[in-house]
Amino acid sequence: MLFMDIDIVEYKYEGVSGRYVTTVDLERFYLGLSDLFEICVEGRSVENRDVKSVRVGSGDKKIFMWSQMHGNESTTTKAVLDLLLFLDSGNEMANSFLNAFTLLIIPIVNPDGAFAYTRVNANGVDLNRDAVDLSQPESKILRRVFDEFCPDFAFNLHDQRTIFGVGDKECAASLSFLSPSFDMDRSVNVTRERAMKLIVGIYDALRNHLPNGMARFDDGFNLNCVGDYFQYRGVPTILFEAGHYKGDYLRETVRGFVFRALISALSELEADRYIDNIVDKYFLLPENNKSYVDVILRKVLEPFSGVFWSVSLQYEEVLFNDRILFLPIITEISKKESKFAHVCVNTELKFIVQVSDLNRLIGEKAFEIIDFGSITVNDLLKKQ
Ligand SMILES: [Zn+2]
Repeated sequence: MLFMDIDIVEYKYEGVSGRYVTTVDLERFYLGLSDLFEICVEGRSVENRDVKSVRVGSGDKKIFMWSQMHGNESTTTKAVLDLLLFLDSGNEMANSFLNAFTLLIIPIVNPDGAFAYTRVNANGVDLNRDAVDLSQPESKILRRVFDEFCPDFAFNLHDQRTIFGVGDKECAASLSFLSPSFDMDRSVNVTRERAMKLIVGIYDALRNHLPNGMARFDDGFNLNCVGDYFQYRGVPTILFEAGHYKGDYLRETVRGFVFRALISALSELEADRYIDNIVDKYFLLPENNKSYVDVILRKVLEPFSGVFWSVSLQYEEVLFNDRILFLPIITEISKKESKFAHVCVNTELKFIVQVSDLNRLIGEKAFEIIDFGSITVNDLLKKQ
């Protein structure tokens, strides 16, 4: 069976949606899993929350995945839950995966960051810069599970910001991949090449669904990044980055793309089909480019001078009552915009404050500075 035949809606776990996903959601999810799945407490976070793993399958190939080591990056976690539901479905391909693989997954590595909706853990440390230092309990857990499991392949699952576009095209980077470097020279050895070949397989499987929306993440080397470190240890590792898709600030569409990417990765690995992929195609993938802002307001009148300005906005994500609010912040005021925008507003708007230097408004909340008329943040978020 081709994975394209899979109806992703059928396997979508409806118990989570949106951007705020915590271990409370996971606990509810685990209750619905069959006894094929072994849930294990691997350790505890700084604030004493459980870090749990899910183990499933009886195959020889060992795949290790972890998500949400950055607490505010939940899209891949949602896709992992969908994958687990798929594996529990009795679907022919799912059963074949369970025979081929032993999967060990930590859906939320950073439960305190997930709870507080922060990138860092409760000590303010970026766990993806702690792979060698191992200064944090969550980093130690991840390393111990990796060492004990000895995976054949590792998937490092993240979200990326809306600022990334695909090369110099006017296309958002909805999914980006990386086969991380293992040295400063960014050399390519057998390990790194395997990860590159698997990315080529995923790309080929998804390009009909997402023709211009996939890119290659920056391969600058830092041994304290988990992917770089695991690759250095000789385990092929792929970084998955879930990004923006038009109108999809809740990242439910991209969740589906990540699910497809995971299924296609497993299907490439199942019979080692990825080995035949051409590694050069990896380098043909356009690179991630910081080419986007969330919103550009094309005509904002400065009433005292009568001059129109172009104003760029970037959302700050704020946790409020278990939901994420998107707060537009002014990032640039210029005569001509320097970046693409996910949403352009051509309606005439005007500044409601008077300052001698407009640059002093950079970093301010847009709705306190500009009269938006009848336009709300929700209008901007949904506009395509
Ligand atoms: Zn991340």
